[in-house]
Amino acid sequence: MKTFNLTSLIRPNVNRLKPYSSARDEFQGSASVYLDANENPYPSAYNRYPDPHQVSLKKTVSQIKHVPIDQIFLGNGSDEPIDLLIRAFCEPGIDNVVIPQPTYGMYTVSAEINQVDIKAPRLTAEFDLDLKTLENTWDDKSKLIFLCSPNNPSGNLLSAEKIKSVLRSFQGLVVVDEAYIDFTESAGFVPMLSEFPNLVILQTLSKAWGLAAIRLGMCFAHADIVAVLNKIKPPYNINILTQRVAEEALGQEERKNKWVAELIQERKKLAAELSKLPLVKKVYPSDANFLLVQVNDAKKIYHALVHTGIIVRDRSQVVLCENCLRITVGTVTENNLLIQALAQL
Ligand SMILES: *Cc1c(COP(=O)(O)O)cnc(C)c1O
Repeated sequence: MKTFNLTSLIRPNVNRLKPYSSARDEFQGSASVYLDANENPYPSAYNRYPDPHQVSLKKTVSQIKHVPIDQIFLGNGSDEPIDLLIRAFCEPGIDNVVIPQPTYGMYTVSAEINQVDIKAPRLTAEFDLDLKTLENTWDDKSKLIFLCSPNNPSGNLLSAEKIKSVLRSFQGLVVVDEAYIDFTESAGFVPMLSEFPNLVILQTLSKAWGLAAIRLGMCFAHADIVAVLNKIKPPYNINILTQRVAEEALGQEERKNKWVAELIQERKKLAAELSKLPLVKKVYPSDANFLLVQVNDAKKIYHALVHTGIIVRDRSQVVLCENCLRITVGTVTENNLLIQALAQL
């Protein structure tokens, strides 16, 4: 059993950093005259800086997710906490991150932008974790491991037992990206936050909640980890339009649940229809709002679909995804158009 020491994981310069203190940090509360932030005093509806700590929105998130406010970090999409985690914990040219493949591409891109080495072991042929390979892959310079569950592009949940085993044996932070968690029966890892001091969970409003355009990513972790992210984030990283729209949408959880139920039903139907087509070799099981589908000739089918005005994602160049297309579950009409187009090829 390893011992976990957060302070020793943080980059020394981040540890030493005195964070930027905004006008809204230095005076909180309400006053009648604000002459402290060089804002334009004439009301345009948007002339004041937004709350840098998004307290009102975090209260709403807290109620829905049952996570205390000091364990919530909000980002400009999930992409922002991914980047901030790498920047807070990984010394360029020295530390590394572990990214089992195939998975979401942003972890690799963010690590490369920050000049942080990547260790890229493979998932099993069923796209689950291979614990032995993992333990042989990480070393004492490994600061983060990115686990995506349900995984993109394969669609499956990783084994929860194996993730827990990684949480117990890895000395760094375990980032579990649950962008697609609403499409599963699984409660995910949020209920286990208090059990694991090195657990970081990413969720987003971009998928089930239908708000990809407003860019709101949610990160749940021990309050000490959230404090590190708050220390290095841009002061006003969530704009007021996003804060307002997100709060309003989170108040309509039934709408999200209805969409999710419909998409899951459509996912089942689409999987069954696709399996009947001769050009389809395999439809992988999915806990997400997309299907990974192995076909006889991915490139050819991708271009034929483009020709009919239907765009899917060609994942055939990705490891373990030979001749695979990733197909997002659409509306009933869209899915029918896809099946018709494929039947005619
Ligand atoms: C779509 C997706 C996200 C969402 O990213 P945002 O920046 O929040 O839009 C995060 N992780 C994975 C694995 C995804 O597929």
